Amino acid sequence: MNTYDMTINGRAVSGAATFEVVNPATGAPFARVAAGDASHVDAAVKAARTAFPAWSRTPDGQRQALIGQLADLLEAHMAELMELLTLESGKPLIGLDGIGSQMEVGGAIAWTRVTGGLSLPVEVIQDNAEARIEVHRKPLGVVGSITPWNWPLMIAIWHVIPALRAGNTVVLKPAEVTPVATARFVELANGILPPGVLNIVIGTHGSGIGSAIAGHPGIDKIVFTGSTPTGKKIMGAAANNLKRLTLELGGNDAGIVLPDVDPKAIARKLFKAAFHNNGQTCACLKRLYVHESIYEALCDELAIQARTVVVGDGMADGTELGPLQNEEQRQIVQSLADNAKSRGARLLTGGRAIARAGYFFEPTIVADISNGTPLVDEEQFGPILPVIKYRDLDEAIALANDNPNGLGGSIWSNDIALATALARRLECGTAWVNEHGAIQPDAPFGGVKQSGIGVEFGHYGLAEYTSIQTVKVMKN
Ligand code: NAD
Repeated sequence: MNTYDMTINGRAVSGAATFEVVNPATGAPFARVAAGDASHVDAAVKAARTAFPAWSRTPDGQRQALIGQLADLLEAHMAELMELLTLESGKPLIGLDGIGSQMEVGGAIAWTRVTGGLSLPVEVIQDNAEARIEVHRKPLGVVGSITPWNWPLMIAIWHVIPALRAGNTVVLKPAEVTPVATARFVELANGILPPGVLNIVIGTHGSGIGSAIAGHPGIDKIVFTGSTPTGKKIMGAAANNLKRLTLELGGNDAGIVLPDVDPKAIARKLFKAAFHNNGQTCACLKRLYVHESIYEALCDELAIQARTVVVGDGMADGTELGPLQNEEQRQIVQSLADNAKSRGARLLTGGRAIARAGYFFEPTIVADISNGTPLVDEEQFGPILPVIKYRDLDEAIALANDNPNGLGGSIWSNDIALATALARRLECGTAWVNEHGAIQPDAPFGGVKQSGIGVEFGHYGLAEYTSIQTVKVMKN
């Protein structure tokens, strides 16, 4: 078993102990990782603060070139990182319609390249005989990044690259169950970046590292991706020194299918949107509203997809869905399935754990269910989709918006003008037409309502790693 260290101030740091990281496809450990604590957060913040003045003054072109080298590094280590991601997260190497570890590393490379190439030019507000007013974007200082377990490397890249591009230094904390690929990336990146610019601190559950970062007076901004309850705690802890926040939190995305679509033609797309990465993606389709005229036909088609999808160890060729990432998440999915059944919902497929080692669960389609049940109202984050019948479009929009989350949403129809108008009525940060969950590095992405604060990606996302300085120069 390999052991992975923290990296602080450009050096490997092993901590007083190590802990095991489990492969969710087998339930057995496959790697050991250094177990840090709050003292390592202090050391990492000190290193990042020390590195900040030189890094923030490094000429733009030079920082861009170094970020380009990070993309090359990810490319050169793609196979190794893919394997580590599959072993720690359970997601297949290739996966359902290509959504797996290969896409995660490929996405990390694409986001690094595109974000590295962005700029936030000086804006001139006024330039006349009286004065010149310029708006400058300045880095904030030290950014604390806290990541979840579902797309560990790609989300770390989404945090780290814009922070570095804007001239900040970073202290990164991965989820305790998936620290390995991220630790390896930071170790490699420190062969390129100056010491202290990118640090990683790792700890077990209960190590207090996350809350130490959230409350640390030496950190200027937190970028957090994870659950809404944890996001609220971080927001509270961050208030002490008024840290800037980007919070990418839970989602419970609705999709609405209009009566004019062919169930056979869209079933695979809907299934992919809901079940890729076993439903463990923030912007998975998590509630599907279907017009009554095609309800049974679409339920049947989705059930066929669920029965035929290949579930197995993500390291094996042809696997489309792996296990859930952890046993706790499998229990959540099981209790939502049991609750739906006890309320009279129809389980068209699945509903049970798969009897084998690891944290597998049968892909589950649930019909005859409505808003007001936990499987519809709460984020399931697993391979179980509630399909809800509706009569008219106003009712469907109201049901979709009847939720505290507002990350994404989608409308499915051949009438593009109508679908686009309906999409605009969804209370969410991204609305898709005939698609769900597709993101790209130049289009802003973020949640409204309790799905978050702020956006990531593109120049809107980059701006969140800066403060504005207005410079007014009098001319007489
Ligand atoms: P989580 O909130 O349990 O954990 C996320 C991270 O926060 C982990 O690193 C964890 O160690 C850390 N953490 C836990 N308690 C903390 C505290 N008190 N202070 C600081 N840090 C703390 O989330 P998870 O279960 O790892 O991830 C799943 C959730 O993430 C889902 O709700 C999903 O929708 C959401 N998510 C959102 C997006 C998005 O872009 N909106 C993307 C991916 C995942």
